[in-house]
Amino acid sequence: MRRHQNCLVCKKELTGRSDQKYCSKKCRDTKNNENYLNRNTVLRKRITEIKQNKKLLDEMYRLIGEKPVPANLFPDHLFKESYTGTTKDGNIHIAEFEIRALNNGMLQIHKHKLQ
Ligand SMILES: [Zn+2]
Repeated sequence: MRRHQNCLVCKKELTGRSDQKYCSKKCRDTKNNENYLNRNTVLRKRITEIKQNKKLLDEMYRLIGEKPVPANLFPDHLFKESYTGTTKDGNIHIAEFEIRALNNGMLQIHKHKLQ
């Protein structure tokens, strides 16, 4: 029994094998590309957030360098999983920048040299 009467993309009536889903290679490629884009939506969003955070840290670093800053002056979203990792000391890492927690409730941006 045929499961798909019409092409899943263009709705054109199918005339081939009973398990056929698409009328042409073009429609199959269209659907595959759509699936690929949907699969990577979360990843692309995350990469965009990390790039934005890196840019923000870059600007902050140019203004204040490694001077300690009160933690409450740091943008909250930098600490909501939009970073690339944590160091062994528990500091947040965004690209070449590390946000270090100092003992006195202050934070410090440290810039690592990229190789
Ligand atoms: Zn089609």
